[in-house]
Amino acid sequence: ALGGGEAGDFGSLLLSRPVLDGLEAAGFQRPSPVQLKAIPLGRCGLDLIVQAKSGTGKTCVFSTVALDSLILENPGTQILILAPTREIAVQIHSVITAIGIKLEGLECHVFIGGTPLTQDKTRLKKCHIAVGSPGRIKQLIEIGYLSTASIRLFILDEADKLLEEGSFQEQINWIYSSLPANKQMLAVSATYPESLAQALTKYMRDPTFVRLNPTDPALIGLTQYYKVVNSHPLPHKIFEEKVQHLKELFSRVPFNQALVFSNLHSRAQHLADLLTSKGFPALCISGSMNQNQRLDAMSKLKQFHCRVLISTDLTSRGIDAEKVNLVINLDVPQDWETYLHRIGRAGRFGTYGLAVTYCCRGEEETQMLQIAQKCKLQLQPLPDPIPPGLM
Ligand code: ADP
Ligand code: MG
Repeated sequence: ALGGGEAGDFGSLLLSRPVLDGLEAAGFQRPSPVQLKAIPLGRCGLDLIVQAKSGTGKTCVFSTVALDSLILENPGTQILILAPTREIAVQIHSVITAIGIKLEGLECHVFIGGTPLTQDKTRLKKCHIAVGSPGRIKQLIEIGYLSTASIRLFILDEADKLLEEGSFQEQINWIYSSLPANKQMLAVSATYPESLAQALTKYMRDPTFVRLNPTDPALIGLTQYYKVVNSHPLPHKIFEEKVQHLKELFSRVPFNQALVFSNLHSRAQHLADLLTSKGFPALCISGSMNQNQRLDAMSKLKQFHCRVLISTDLTSRGIDAEKVNLVINLDVPQDWETYLHRIGRAGRFGTYGLAVTYCCRGEEETQMLQIAQKCKLQLQPLPDPIPPGLM
C-alpha cells in the first residue's frame, strides 16, 4: 500500500507502508526540503549527487531510498554505504535500524576497522545493507567475506571527503570496480568542491543534481563569533591564553553540550585533562585512540553523559548529537570546508547554536578572515565581557 498523504508529507513520496511507518516511529514527521526533493528522485533509480547544508537530514534521504528499494526476501547484500569515519558509519547504521523498524527480518550491519573480523564474517552471512568505512569494506571484499554480486545501490556519505585527493580514493576505486556494473549510486555531502565533481565523473554517467542553497552555506540558527588572542613566541602560551578564554566562556554561557576542536591530537587529550581538573569535566576523542574508546566517547556524548567533548577533525563531519549547541574552534581550521563542517555540529535541523573561534593575532587571524570571506559568514567579534544573554 502506498502512503497517499498530502503534498509536502512523507506520505506524498510514494514510499512503502513499512518505510512510512518506520519514519513516523523514528520521529520524522515532515520531510525537510532536501528529503522532499531527493527521495523521489532516488526512488526512480537515478544516480544522484545531493548537496545540502549540515544538519538538514541527508542521512534520512539515503536511508529511506535504501530501505524502500530493499528486497527483504533476497538475503544477499544489496546496498553498500561508505562513510569517511567509523563514527559516522555507526551513526548511519542506527538511523537505518530506526527507520527500518517495521521491515521484518531486516539485516543491516556496520563494518569498521579496529573490531574483530570474525564478528564481521558471522554478520555477513545475512546482511541486506552493509555500512562501513572504506578500509574495512575493501578488506572484507578482498578476503571473500562480503559478496558484492547482489549490490544494486552504492552510497557515499560525505562524498567530498571520501573522494578527496590522498584520502580514500584508491580504496573507493577498488571497491567500485568490484561492484556489478548495473547499479545505482548516490553521493551526499554538505560541501561540493569542484574536485568532487571531477572525481564523480569516473563513477556516474549522467547524474541528477539536488543542490540546496549552494551559494549560501551558513546555518540560520547558528550565531558565529571569533575572538582574537595575543600572539606569543611560545605556542603553549597562546594555548594557555585560549584555554583561559574558553573557561570564561564555559562559565558564562548556559550551553547544553559543547564540541571543542583542536587541530592537534596531542593537545586534545591534554586539554580534556586540563579542563576536567579545573572543574569542567571533558572527554576527548581522536584518531589516536583505540576503536572501543572512540565508540565509548561518542556514545557518552549522544547519551548526554558527557557535556564537553574535545576532538580533532575526526568528528568535524557528519556527527549528529542533538544537544550540542556550542562549537568551539580552539584553532582556526585548515580550510573553509572544515570550518563549515565543524560549526555544523551545532544548529542541527534548524535549532539554535553558537560557534566561537579563537584565533591568534597575525597569521591565524588572517586565515579566519579569509574563511569568513570565502563562506560569506556573518562573523562577529565575541563581546568582552561576555554578556549573560549571549545564548
Ligand atoms: P546531515 O547529514 O544533513 O548533516 P542528519 O542526517 O545527520 O543531517 O540529520 C540531522 C538531524 O536532523 C538528525 O538529528 C535527524 O534525526 C534530524 N532530522 C532529519 N530529518 C528529519 C525530519 N524530517 N524531521 C525531524 N528531524 C529530522
Ligand atoms: Mg550527514
